[in-house]
Amino acid sequence: IEKIQKAAADGRTVFSFEYFPPKTDDGVDNLLERMDRMVAYGPTFCDITWGAGGSTADTTLKIAKSMQNLVCVETMMHLTCTNMPVEKIDHALQTIKSNGIQNVLALRGDPPHGQDKFVQVEGGFSCALNLVKHIKDKYDDYFGITVAGYPEAHPDEIKADGRAPPEAYNRDLEYLKRKVDAGADFIITQLFYDTDIFLKFVNDCRQIGITCPIVPGIMPINNYNGFKRMTTFCKTKIPAEIIAALDPIKENDEAVKNYGIQLGTDMCKKILASGIKTLHLYTLNMDKSALAILMNLGLIEESKISRTLPWRPPTNVFRV
Ligand code: FAD
Repeated sequence: IEKIQKAAADGRTVFSFEYFPPKTDDGVDNLLERMDRMVAYGPTFCDITWGAGGSTADTTLKIAKSMQNLVCVETMMHLTCTNMPVEKIDHALQTIKSNGIQNVLALRGDPPHGQDKFVQVEGGFSCALNLVKHIKDKYDDYFGITVAGYPEAHPDEIKADGRAPPEAYNRDLEYLKRKVDAGADFIITQLFYDTDIFLKFVNDCRQIGITCPIVPGIMPINNYNGFKRMTTFCKTKIPAEIIAALDPIKENDEAVKNYGIQLGTDMCKKILASGIKTLHLYTLNMDKSALAILMNLGLIEESKISRTLPWRPPTNVFRV
């Protein structure tokens, strides 16, 4: 948060990269190598997700430690309440604390695979608000806390017509304010493809007194099927012009990827033009699209990589 605030004060634009835990040890090694290459471009931080239902807890913790201490990037770990009694929550927080990690994205979490409703585990928390309160109560100001924000309202509130009723949207917003008032330092948003919806959301947050940075979550379209799957799951509104542009090229992966880079660039340009100076890129563990967007925006240059030495992971460290 300090880095983001300092960049904002200097009028600089900053960016961050999000990754998810791969399933195999080789996948983890590959990810850390890729991350190291991407970190050379100077993201403010990188974050690693917590698999649905806590399914990746050990791998997430292991990757977070390696990010902070081997890749040497400011690391943020996602942490959810699903299947997590408070002892497990504290084990995860103590583990990252003892490894020097100071940033947590505090989430309720989605239900585990095969279940459609979130169920509070015995001895655990029912929502992200209570997790934020717990982190503040127990760890004081040690952790910088981020929370999730939903420009179109949380998917549970979105009805069959693709929209959340105004009262549900407002309720969601008020609840977001409670998360911030309880101690969250900044907000990262759910993915979106209608930039106007994001800008309206930021304005609505400001109207109700949310003053912290609101960082747009940008997910470059890497392939058509992944895009459909993700936007269906998140109930994301897809503007008609994006549907019209993708439909004729949906079988051509290269064309879809190039369109995704152009679209991501245009969305970011509009966001930056509104005065917002922070971008969060959902990399989906790939580098090409995220880096291409940042290059198009003039935020990174091939010749200005901040680290140049090739880096090899000591695999014995990652495989403990
Ligand atoms: P909450 O903030 O608790 O809110 C959930 C919903 O319940 C909202 O609609 C809220 O308004 C409502 N609600 C809860 N309590 C109250 C209350 N007291 N009063 C009124 N309304 C209430 N999932 C993972 O499993 N792992 C991840 O790593 C992960 N990373 C994510 C990163 C980002 C940036 C985002 C946007 C989402 C991520 N998710 C992740 C998905 C997230 O876990 C789900 O969207 C989940 O359903 C809600 O989590 P939350 O933290 O937003 O929940």
